[in-house]
Amino acid sequence: MNHTSYIEISESAIQNNIDFIKQFLGDETIFSSVVKGNAYGHGINIYCPLAYKYGIRHFSVSDAHEAYELKSCLPNDDVEIMIMGMIENDQLSWAINNNISFYVFEENRLKNALFYAKKFKKTAQIHIEVETGMNRTGFEKSQITSIIDFVKSNSKFLKLKSVCSHLAGAESITNYKRISKQRKNFKLIKKEIKQHVNSSPLFHLASSAATIRYPKTQLDLVRIGILQFGYFPTKEILVHYFNKEKTFVNPLKRIVSWKSSVMDIKVVKSGEFIGYGTSYFTNEETTIAIIPVGYSSGYNRLLSNRGKVLINGDRFNVIGTVNMNMMAVDITHNKNIKKGDEVVLIGSQKEKEITVSSFNDSIQLINYELLTRLPKNLPRIITK
Ligand SMILES: *Cc1c(COP(=O)(O)O)cnc(C)c1O
Repeated sequence: MNHTSYIEISESAIQNNIDFIKQFLGDETIFSSVVKGNAYGHGINIYCPLAYKYGIRHFSVSDAHEAYELKSCLPNDDVEIMIMGMIENDQLSWAINNNISFYVFEENRLKNALFYAKKFKKTAQIHIEVETGMNRTGFEKSQITSIIDFVKSNSKFLKLKSVCSHLAGAESITNYKRISKQRKNFKLIKKEIKQHVNSSPLFHLASSAATIRYPKTQLDLVRIGILQFGYFPTKEILVHYFNKEKTFVNPLKRIVSWKSSVMDIKVVKSGEFIGYGTSYFTNEETTIAIIPVGYSSGYNRLLSNRGKVLINGDRFNVIGTVNMNMMAVDITHNKNIKKGDEVVLIGSQKEKEITVSSFNDSIQLINYELLTRLPKNLPRIITK
């Protein structure tokens, strides 16, 4: 059955972005592809097999359910899957049995990991998360020696894969001081741990923003989310990149396009309200096209009277409120539009483009949020 709107995923854009990121990283740095939030809305089952095809062998997800979904869609097992957030105890045993690695940031999870590893005679692959100043999850510096000792004395069942932390907003220079402090804290912790263990775990700290702005934070591994989907985390990071590389060419390509079609066209007399309520009043005879997309499809209601779409290569305004399943667009000045014509909500049509970042300009919807709100049930089609 056809859906009222669909998403296109560009394979060549995926390849382009992965290639760019790889060449930007140090030779020794592992590229972990962060695919939480349904691969930032692109669809784990669509994006991840393609990322695998273009060389990704390390993925990060937020919870066990995502790890399960990811594992089921990859062609081979030669991949590390790292869970950065939530795992229930029963999922912990699944993870351990399937060599899925996971963050440990509190003692209970560490003890449970040991319990299940012993029970199944397996080795749990763990990443010790340390607190450096984000104040979210992570062991305090004072706890680290005893945690490491615990891992060491159970090395048959606990393998220390890495030690990690997360920066609290490297995408904005306003956080410079805080980030600098975190980097310093991590360095000290790294030194302490290195003196304390024989095996050498990986150390990682950077996501997309730090990878670009503070290349020294790339260390052994980077956790890259938004960049691989074709966006710099903020315009600030893009400008930083431009300045540093002395270019104005954005090396990344948008992967996603979002399209629908015109469902109906009608003429509304001058002096009428359009749709629910009174938010749009016609001052002239107005031709509207009805698009079968609304907030239930991920088109934010804040885009009422603000959104823009492309039809026939021209840009048109959303007028009135965005409904649950449809919205109206003012096409008064284009008489050629017909029912069934393609409507672009995100993407290009002829010479024009609706970018993901344009939503940030109009309603402060950051690219991360817009993308992850694209519903899972919209069909996703892979294009060249
Ligand atoms: C989401 C996330 C990332 C990736 O962030 P981007 O800004 O999208 O690169 C990295 N690390 C952790 C812990 C995350 O939660």
